[in-house]
Amino acid sequence: METVVSGIRSTGNLHLGNYFGAIRNFIKMQHEHRCYFFIADMHALTTHPKADHFKESVRNVLVEYLAAGIDPDVSTIYIQSDVPQIPELYLLMNMYAYVGELERCTSFKDKIRKHSDNVNAGLLTYPVLMAADIIIHKATKVPVGKDQEQHLEMARNFVNRFNHLYEKEVFPEPFAFNFGNELVKVPGLDGSGKMGKSEGEGNAVFLADTPEVLRKKVMRAVTDGGPTEPNQEKPESIRNLFQLMRLVSTQDTIQHFEDTWNNCTIRYGDMKKQLAEDMILFTDPIRERIKEIGSNETYLNKVIQEGGEKARESAAKTLKEVRSIIGFTNY
Ligand code: AMP
Repeated sequence: METVVSGIRSTGNLHLGNYFGAIRNFIKMQHEHRCYFFIADMHALTTHPKADHFKESVRNVLVEYLAAGIDPDVSTIYIQSDVPQIPELYLLMNMYAYVGELERCTSFKDKIRKHSDNVNAGLLTYPVLMAADIIIHKATKVPVGKDQEQHLEMARNFVNRFNHLYEKEVFPEPFAFNFGNELVKVPGLDGSGKMGKSEGEGNAVFLADTPEVLRKKVMRAVTDGGPTEPNQEKPESIRNLFQLMRLVSTQDTIQHFEDTWNNCTIRYGDMKKQLAEDMILFTDPIRERIKEIGSNETYLNKVIQEGGEKARESAAKTLKEVRSIIGFTNY
C-alpha cells in the first residue's frame, strides 16, 4: 500500500482537465492505497489574493469532488487551510529551495506573464507549498496532469536535499502518476494549450455545466477550413477535438470521424454535435450528484470535519519528526 496525495485549487469549478488529469486516477486508487485528497485554498491565494466568494468556491470544489466519485469513507478529504502543519512545513522547506530553481520553473514564468500586476512571492514558492502538501503525508504517488510534472521534479529535489543534509531518509521521493503511464494534458476548446479555469471564456468544459451551456461551448470550439487532401496531418485545433473525443466517445465514433477526416468528408458541425452529446452523457451522472450532495449541508460539514481531523493527525506525525530532526526544542 502506498500513500497518495492530490489536490485541486479552489479557484473555480472542476473541469474535464481536472477530472481526467487528476480525479479519475485518484478514484481508481482510493480503494487500494492510503489516499489524501485536498482542496488547495491556500494555493488559490497565489492568483486570487482576495477572491470574491472564496468560501463558496471551496464548498463547490468539495461538492464536485464527492460527486465525481471520491469516497470520504475510504479517502481522506480535507481543506488545505484546515491543516496548519502544511504551512509550517512549507516555511521550513523554503530553506531547502533555491530562488534560482524556482525562478526557472515554467509555470512561474507562465504565471508572471498572465498576472504581471501581481507577481507575489507565493507564486514563486508555489512548488514549495506543493511539495509540503505531498510530503506532509510522506506520499509517493501524486495523480496529476502533465502540467504538474516539473513541480514533482522540484519536490524530489527538495526532498533529496533535505534527506541528504540530515543524512536520513525522512521523506520518500514523490512521483507524478497516471494509470495510462503518459501524463495527461486535456486540451481546451479554444484551439490551443490546455483546458484550464483561467484560460478564458469558453475554453473549459465544467463538470457542472448544463447540457445547454456545454453544447454552446463545444459548438463554438475553434476549427479550421477542413482537410484539402486525403490523410492530411491535422492542425492543433482539430487534433484537440479528436483528443477530447477520445476521452468521452466510443471507439466506433472516433473511427468514424477519423475516416471522414482522412477522406476529406468531415463536417465539423456533426463532429462537435456528437462530441457535445458524448460529453453530456459522461457528465450527466456527476451533475445529478452535484445537485444531490450540494443540498446536504450536514453531510458536507461532517466530511470536512472528519477529513480535517484525519489529515491533521497524519501531518502532525511528520512535522514532529521534522522538528526533532532539525533540532527544535519542542517537537
Ligand atoms: P488546478 O486546476 O490547476 O489546481 O489543477 C488541479 C489538477 O488538475 C492537477 O493535477 C492538474 O495537473 C490537473 N489538470 C488541470 N488542468 C488540466 C488539463 N488541462 N489536463 C490535464 N490535467 C489537468
